[in-house]
Amino acid sequence: MAFDRQPGDNHEDAETLYQQGLAFLYGTDVPKDYAKAAECFKSSCKKGHMPARRELGIMYASGQGVEKDLERAVLYLGQAADSLDPSALYHLGLMYEVGSGVEKDMQKAVRMLAYAAEMGFPGADSDAERVDAILTEQRNRNLRARPLLKLQISDVDVEAACCKPMLDALLAQDIVFIDTASGPALLGEDLDGMDAVLSRCPYCGAPVQVVPRDKKYRSRHPELLPHLPFRRCSQAHEGIAAAFRSLRQFIIILRR
Ligand SMILES: [Zn+2]
Repeated sequence: MAFDRQPGDNHEDAETLYQQGLAFLYGTDVPKDYAKAAECFKSSCKKGHMPARRELGIMYASGQGVEKDLERAVLYLGQAADSLDPSALYHLGLMYEVGSGVEKDMQKAVRMLAYAAEMGFPGADSDAERVDAILTEQRNRNLRARPLLKLQISDVDVEAACCKPMLDALLAQDIVFIDTASGPALLGEDLDGMDAVLSRCPYCGAPVQVVPRDKKYRSRHPELLPHLPFRRCSQAHEGIAAAFRSLRQFIIILRR
C-alpha cells in the first residue's frame, strides 16, 4: 500500500485511507486484517474523515481489530451521528437501547433507530419498530396506572390522561404524541375533522400540560367524566406526525 501524501490533497488522502481500511475490513483484494483496517481508519480520522470515525467507533464497540473501548466507541459514533451518518445513528441507537457505553435510554435509542430507518439504513426499521413497541407498551401501562386527573405530556411521550375518553383515545392512538419544532404536543382532530395540535382535551377541556419525563404519580383518584363524541383521526395524521417527528429528531440530534 502506498500512502503518498501531497500538500493540499488532505481530503483525498483521508478518503484513500478510508477506502484502504474498508478493503482490509472486508478482505477486498487484500487478506482480511482488522488491525490494519483500524490503523487505516485511525489515520483517516486524524484528517477529519467522518465515515472513518464511524467505522472506528464500530470497531471500538465490538473490539474488532482494536481493544474494546466503549467510551471511545461512543465518542466516535457520536461525532459521526452528529453529522447524520445513518450507520453511526443505527449503531449508537443499539448502544442506547442496551446501555452499552452510555446510560440506557430507550427514547434516545428509538429516535436514532427511526432516523437511521428514514435514511434507509438496512434493518433499522425493524429495530426501531421493536424498541417503539416496548416503549408503547410501557407508556400504556403507565397511563392505565396513573390517576385520571390531568392531561400531561413530557418531552418524549404522554405522561398522564385527564379522563377515560382521552385515555381510550391515547391507547387506540386516535390521539398521538408528536415532537414539533416548537416542542412536544398532542395531535388529534379539531371540530372540522382536520388534524390539529390540541391545546385542550376535546372531551373534558383539560389543558395540555408539559411536565418532566417520568414524573412520579402517587395517588390514584380516577375522575371519570361523561363521554363526548370524538371522531377517529384520518390516516393523514400519521404522515404529519412523521414529518414533525423527523424534524424534531433532526433538531434533537444536532443538539445532542
Ligand atoms: Zn379529558
